[in-house]
Amino acid sequence: MTSPLSHRVAVYPGTFDPIHLGHMDIIGRGSLIFDRLIVGVGINTDKKPLFDLDERVDLAREVTSKFKNVSVRPFTGLAVTFAREHGARVMLRGLRTTSDMESEFTMSLMNLSLDPEIETVFLMAKEPYSHVRGSLLREIATFGGALDKFLPTEVKQALELRVRERHGH
Ligand code: ADP
Repeated sequence: MTSPLSHRVAVYPGTFDPIHLGHMDIIGRGSLIFDRLIVGVGINTDKKPLFDLDERVDLAREVTSKFKNVSVRPFTGLAVTFAREHGARVMLRGLRTTSDMESEFTMSLMNLSLDPEIETVFLMAKEPYSHVRGSLLREIATFGGALDKFLPTEVKQALELRVRERHGH
């Protein structure tokens, strides 16, 4: 027996390595649309993350605690399985550019064929964050650039510390 899914509940799955203000914007806007929003911090088999799963979850929890209807959970399987486990009918994703669209289009169709009851809903990134991506932030941190405009303070500190540990300076 599978439990019923609610259209008032959404999951927001991603890698969040680490969570940044582009993600936070989608979370804030999503929290106003849905009764409950569960941020799913996942494992990406294509990427070697800078922060391990527990660290990514902890950082995301710290900076989203101000949103009362938002929670953060790790997940290791498929995003549609994660959504179903939480009774969510909706999977929220952010779109930055037309190049995002291509991969998101494919992924949303794949997810729909995996579980036809779960719909992907997209929010367009706000202009100031439309160029913000994890890989760029990790690179900026490595070369000592300013990150204040893109990351919450706690995350900025954690990222700067992590690249210093990695690069030994
Ligand atoms: P993934 O590896 O699954 O793409 P990410 O952590 O990179 O995970 O992104 C999670 C979700 O957040 C994705 O839907 C992605 O498109 C969206 N996202 C990433 N960066 C931004 C941004 N700057 N503005 C809005 N949405 C974003």
